[in-house]
Amino acid sequence: MLKTHTCGDLRKSQLGKNVTLAGWVDRRRDHGGLIFIDLRDREGIVQVVFNPERSKACHEIADQLRSEYVVRVAGVVAERPAGTENPRLATGEIEVIADNTEILNPAKTPPFYINEDVDVEERLALKYRYLDLRRARLKANILLRCRVIKFMRDFLDARGFLDIETPILIKSTPEGARDYLVPSRLQPGKFYALPQSPQQLKQLLMVAGMEKYYQIARCFRDEDTRADRQPEFTQLDLEMSFVDKDDVTALIEALLTDMMAALKPDLRIIKPFPRLTYAQAMSRYGSDKPDLRFGLEIGDISDIATRTEFGVFRSVLATGGVVRGIAAPGCGHYTRGQLEELGRLARSLGAEGLVTISLGATPGSLDTLTSEEVKSVAARFLTLDQVKAISARLGAQKGDLLLIVAGKPDKTATVLGDLRKEMGRRLKLADPNLFAFAYIENFPLLHWNAELDRWESEHHPFTAPWEEDIPLLDTAPAQVRGKHYDIVCNGYEIGGGSIRIHKPELQRQLFRLLGYSDAESEALFGHMLEAFEYGAPPHGGIALGIDRLVMLLAGEETIRAVIAFPKNQSAVDLTVNAPAPVTENQLAELHLCVREE
Ligand code: ASP
Repeated sequence: MLKTHTCGDLRKSQLGKNVTLAGWVDRRRDHGGLIFIDLRDREGIVQVVFNPERSKACHEIADQLRSEYVVRVAGVVAERPAGTENPRLATGEIEVIADNTEILNPAKTPPFYINEDVDVEERLALKYRYLDLRRARLKANILLRCRVIKFMRDFLDARGFLDIETPILIKSTPEGARDYLVPSRLQPGKFYALPQSPQQLKQLLMVAGMEKYYQIARCFRDEDTRADRQPEFTQLDLEMSFVDKDDVTALIEALLTDMMAALKPDLRIIKPFPRLTYAQAMSRYGSDKPDLRFGLEIGDISDIATRTEFGVFRSVLATGGVVRGIAAPGCGHYTRGQLEELGRLARSLGAEGLVTISLGATPGSLDTLTSEEVKSVAARFLTLDQVKAISARLGAQKGDLLLIVAGKPDKTATVLGDLRKEMGRRLKLADPNLFAFAYIENFPLLHWNAELDRWESEHHPFTAPWEEDIPLLDTAPAQVRGKHYDIVCNGYEIGGGSIRIHKPELQRQLFRLLGYSDAESEALFGHMLEAFEYGAPPHGGIALGIDRLVMLLAGEETIRAVIAFPKNQSAVDLTVNAPAPVTENQLAELHLCVREE
């Protein structure tokens, strides 16, 4: 190699050693006589000193060095003079005195600072992603990502899982999102689809007897890009035969627990992972991906509200609605302006209105709360005892603020869920050292899409219903529970999976329920139905979103920060400029022509 050590390697124990380093000029300082450069490579930064009295040639070269030049330096490791140590650098006690220097490649002035963690306009950062990736933060994210994936591979390999690749050119089947399509040259008018996930292929691998499969799989979904969504993303995809729900969830729990201990020993997790039913998650947290790093649980106060004289509550309850709320700790002092702002927020989230009850400006026990301290539009319709009962139900103390929403159960749950999340954020309730994994289970197998007038799978059409609910498929599909589990962390869904249907008849019945004629099921999913006729083992699996998981581990807010070459909001890769037009010839070969809109 062109170097003997990395720029992060050298310590006092190597004093006097002759070393050769190669990397990029992070910074250059000319102190009249001496020139210093911070030399950077992937592993770190080390200070190199160019002394004209030691090597005039080296000093002359150092004079030409600019940021991001690629250089190779041979020299000797020396102790830094007392008082000039740099505790922020791992190599900060030493420096390398240059005896030989070679410029391997000069560099243009970069369009943004590489050696400082300053905000860079996204367009520029993505265009010059290869420069952005040189910066400490992104580099650390990419290294973390590698370690996460390596950990997963080792963990699964040790447990007998086979890493099997599945094709990227597959068949378009309705799987929830829009497919990316690839026109076929050899079969005019036909298209491949890029996999939204290897779902069907991994199930076929179970029919093939592979028993334990995993893959770090790239998935493609043509959906609008968001902070936690990219057109292409990476999953840890796995499938196992002869298992039930708990086998799969226990495996993933062990994987994540061990991974956290190995890679993030400073972060705390809740063990064992809490398991909430979908219904519990919705009623207590108003979300199927609750952030469990803080409480602020939603409470139902319908039974208390119905005994009050407050018309708003009573009329909502009379028409089948509910009254629910949360208690924002220490917010009893909020001003009228702040309360109005919360009201606007609640309405923007879909609430008809927000009833606030301030429990006084000073914290204390609920027992000491007086009528004078209670401030609310509803105050004159509520007795002090009723206010206390509501407060107790919501876990409030004196000095807190109750946020109450009345309306249809679903809407109330999601509005309060969003309010809970927002208050959690504003009040910084989440423990930053806690990583709150949890499983959400017992989802309904299907939900009714009123717009399209049909049943849809909550997860995907291959998810098995609970055995005891199978009779309900014909009579009450909404009540059928699916053997589906999601794994959530800090308010994000980081994965999901299920036990699958492995009997062809049940799979056909489900397709029928989803509105496919038998002929349509054959055309779309015939390969699955037929495979199930040849001895399909019971099987199930899961997929973990690696981008989201690494995003959370890295403390980032978008998955773009943990993907080497992400797309922007418009699904454009600015680094290589994709998508891009192609030639008429290329189109002709694919039997395509582009129509002007
Ligand atoms: N294929 C599913 C998904 O991508 C995961 C699974 O069921 O294993 O969400």
